[in-house]
Amino acid sequence: MTRHAVTLIVVSALMMPAGAIAQSKLNVVAATEDLASLAREVGGDRTNVEAIAKGYQDPHFVEAKPSFILKLQKADLLIVVGRDLEIGWLPPLIQQSRNAKVQEGAAGYLDASQRVRILDIPTGQITRAMGDVHPLGNPHYWMDPENGRIIAKEIADRLSQFRPGDSAYFEQRRADFNVRLTEGEKRWYADMAPYKGIKIVTYHRSFSNFADRFGLDVIGYVEPRPGISPSPGHTLELVGEMKRLSVKIVLVEPYFDLKTPEAIGRATGARVLVMPPSVGGVKEATDYVSLFEYNIKLLVGGIKAVGGK
Ligand SMILES: [Zn+2]
Repeated sequence: MTRHAVTLIVVSALMMPAGAIAQSKLNVVAATEDLASLAREVGGDRTNVEAIAKGYQDPHFVEAKPSFILKLQKADLLIVVGRDLEIGWLPPLIQQSRNAKVQEGAAGYLDASQRVRILDIPTGQITRAMGDVHPLGNPHYWMDPENGRIIAKEIADRLSQFRPGDSAYFEQRRADFNVRLTEGEKRWYADMAPYKGIKIVTYHRSFSNFADRFGLDVIGYVEPRPGISPSPGHTLELVGEMKRLSVKIVLVEPYFDLKTPEAIGRATGARVLVMPPSVGGVKEATDYVSLFEYNIKLLVGGIKAVGGK
């Protein structure tokens, strides 16, 4: 530790009221339950972590509530998914919080997408005809455990900056999380190994990173374009393509209407699986590791039920 850092700690300790040092916790607000889960893994009881968007909600469209502004007013650190995922609802909340600590660019604003692997970065010109394409790439990147590991590290680093005295604690918790994640990955990769390259369809592009990591080949989407509701013409085309390629699995996020996916399932004999892309999307997915545990089990069960191909 540098002498400068030591001085800072002493000064800030002197400025705190007596007895406040031991119990004061960092207030962390995460845009989604996934980031909140990773923050809890790392922050443990030295932090107070809350999420804004619930895991069963579409994270592109979250209804702003006054309670969210209150959360942001008290926050020491705000963690966002970034890549424009929350662009429709989060910036006004941050602004209205008037909390200088968590404004974009401040030390208390952490964009979790900065060091992770981002897929679907568009090349060439983006036009409106392409739908709600994110010019900064696919924002659903947390669905890859490798990225989860990187995000946990980013969070640990930032928390340590705020609380250098707790950095060993955060680092230990991050290391413990890594061990559990690695153990999980071994199981998940082994469970998925027999089905490498299996062709699937998903509703939205929420599973690009997940598919890439676990060897799934996404051949199409129920949405004609990202963020655009199903259309009869596109559905007909998709059914034809699924029949041609014998696609038997359709993944649907819990917050989408099942009518079109079920019609597709009836027309093709495919199984429709409601798969949460987020912690809290189903009650079994209570944290980051159990989200993958649940999804891999659901997927393997579904694949076996349609004949294992
Ligand atoms: Zn999306």
